[in-house]
Amino acid sequence: MTVHNSINLIGIPADTGGARTGCLMGPDALRTAGIETTLSELGYQINDRGNFECDATSVLTHNNSSIHHLADYNALIEMLADLSKISAEETPFPIFMGGDHSIASGILPGLAHDAEAANEEQFVLWLDAHPDFQTLETTESGNLHGTPVAYVIGDKDFEGAVPAPKQPIKPENICMMGIRSVDTAERKRLACTNIEVHDMRAIDEHGIVKPLRAFLDRVRAAKGRLHVSLDVDFLDPEIAPAVGTTVPGGATFREAHLIMEMLHDSGLVTSLDISELNPFLDERGRTATLIVDLIASLFGRKVLDRRTWSF
Ligand code: MG
Ligand code: MG
Repeated sequence: MTVHNSINLIGIPADTGGARTGCLMGPDALRTAGIETTLSELGYQINDRGNFECDATSVLTHNNSSIHHLADYNALIEMLADLSKISAEETPFPIFMGGDHSIASGILPGLAHDAEAANEEQFVLWLDAHPDFQTLETTESGNLHGTPVAYVIGDKDFEGAVPAPKQPIKPENICMMGIRSVDTAERKRLACTNIEVHDMRAIDEHGIVKPLRAFLDRVRAAKGRLHVSLDVDFLDPEIAPAVGTTVPGGATFREAHLIMEMLHDSGLVTSLDISELNPFLDERGRTATLIVDLIASLFGRKVLDRRTWSF
C-alpha cells in the first residue's frame, strides 16, 4: 500500500447477476457514505472516475434454462477486462465499487493479465460467505454472481458460452475466508482444486490472524500482487444488513477491521472490489458507512485514531 498515494474510484453499477435488484446503487451509496472524503483525510489523492456501465445488445440462452442475463455477464466481462489495467506500481490504486459480485469475473482476469505482462503473480483474497464456485452447468438459481471464482480459474463449463478469461487466476493463488454457505456441487469441485479455503468454523477455532498471515507470507515470497474481493455478505448481517444474500454467523466488526489492518500493514494489496452492497436493503446507510470505515482501515486508519483529537 505504501507505493500508492492516489486512488481511482471506479463505479460498476451492475446488478443482473443476482435475483433482486438494488446493487446498481452500490457505488453511489459508498460516495454518499463519504468514501472520497474519508480517504482524502488519510492523505490520498482521489480520482472518482464515475460509473462504468455496459448494455448487452443481444439475448443469449443456455442449455441450463435457469441462467438469466448471460449476455449482460459477457458484456460486463469484456468491459472490465480492459478497465482493470494497473500496469505499474505508481499508477493509482483502483477501488472497484460494485455492483453485484459478477464484476469479479471481469476484474480478476484483467488484473491477472497485467500482472502476467509484468512477470508477476496475481493473488486474490476472497472475503465472502460463499465460494461463488458455481458453473453454467451447476448453477440451479441461474444467478451468475455465484460463478466468478469458477470462471476466473478457467473452468471448462464456461467454454463456448462466455469469452475465455483474459488471463486465468491460478487456483493456488486464491485464498477464501468467511465461507459458510456452500452447496454440494461447489463443495465437491472445490475439494478438487488448490484453492485455500478458511470457512467460518476454522475462523471460530483458530481466528483470522494465523491463516491470513500465512497467506500474506506466500504473496510476499512470490513478490505477488494482491487483489481483495469483499462481498458484503462476508460480514455478519447484524452489522451489515444491506445485502441480498445474508447468511448468519459472519465476520464480526473487529474481525473485519483486523483483516483490513493486517492487509494495510502488509503493504501487499494492489486493488480492491466491494461487491453486493444493496443500499435498498440498508438501514439508514449503516452498511455503506461500515464498508467505508473498513476501506479506511485498509488504507491505514487505526480504529482508535477515529476519535483522537489531541493533535
Ligand atoms: Mg460473492
Ligand atoms: Mg456472497
